Amino acid sequence: MDEHARFGGVVPEIAARAHLHSVTPVVRAALADAGLTLADVGAIAVTAGPGLATALQVGVAAAKAYALALDVPLYGVHHLAGHVAAATLDGEPLPNPSIVLIVSGGHTSLLYVRDLATDPIEHLGDTVDDAAGECFDKAARVLGLPYPGGPNVDRAAKTGNAKAVAFPRPMTGPRDAAFGFSFSGLKTAAARWAEAERRAGREPAVADAAASLQEAIADVLTRKAVAACRARGVDTLVVVGGVAANSRVRALAEERCAAAGIALRVPPLRLCTDNGAMTAAVGDLLIRAGRPPAPLDLTIDPSAPLVDALLQPRPAGL
Ligand code: ATP
Ligand code: FE
Repeated sequence: MDEHARFGGVVPEIAARAHLHSVTPVVRAALADAGLTLADVGAIAVTAGPGLATALQVGVAAAKAYALALDVPLYGVHHLAGHVAAATLDGEPLPNPSIVLIVSGGHTSLLYVRDLATDPIEHLGDTVDDAAGECFDKAARVLGLPYPGGPNVDRAAKTGNAKAVAFPRPMTGPRDAAFGFSFSGLKTAAARWAEAERRAGREPAVADAAASLQEAIADVLTRKAVAACRARGVDTLVVVGGVAANSRVRALAEERCAAAGIALRVPPLRLCTDNGAMTAAVGDLLIRAGRPPAPLDLTIDPSAPLVDALLQPRPAGL
């Protein structure tokens, strides 16, 4: 984070180098924290996609080396299945079926999930442009808030008035796809608002804008997620991904699920953004379900669509 903050975002070459420097020390530290040694490891799970190719490459190469050296099976997992599995790290399996709202830096989707380890994942809707996390990050930039944007909007919003600026609720009209999302317009709306304030000779009230923008995003996300549960007759909503760490998204999801009689599952804050435990959790589910491990020529897939938690290399030519 510190290295990326210097450039206001992730620079691929820096990320790759940081991964290379960190991968072995991080594995060592995780084992030490857990009071384990490499000899205790029964399988290796690694994110094989989607994501930044340079970072995936380092992880997959390291995972293969560990699997080979320890003579244990290797599983390539889908990064977003990892976000979903974060909601099981409390030891409670997800009800079958669940509606899952994934809201992260690169993705925003409403999913119908039966058994995460074995069944194909059904997409009820996806964003047509930016992800919710991207919207937080870009809006933070136009409002002059520092990187990383999402947590800083959340912080600034705490002292702001969520009713101060009337930001739109994209994709909630009668002709819009019921479970689709669009977030690119909100960034522009935030930029226009800031410009208009300056033209009027006022210093933009950033806390008010942050609170209003956060309210617009939380409103659209939770409204559609609850509607998806109703439409499919599902009584559990799972909210995961970096934006599930947002305080207003969590509070509004709780409020609306309680009113609708829906059980809500949200991982603890520190397991919402990217972490290794969630990837291990997918590996655990795959092993229990008897899915086959990956071959040692497992390759990365930087743009893998979310259809299966197990990420097998796509056949050549696809
Ligand atoms: P993806 O999982 O889609 O590949 P990613 O791994 O980069 O993307 P995550 O780590 O899951 O994304 O989430 C990071 C995103 O979450 C960032 O856009 C960040 O701004 C956002 N985020 C984190 N905390 C908060 C918060 N408290 N409020 C709003 N957004 C947040
Ligand atoms: Fe992520």
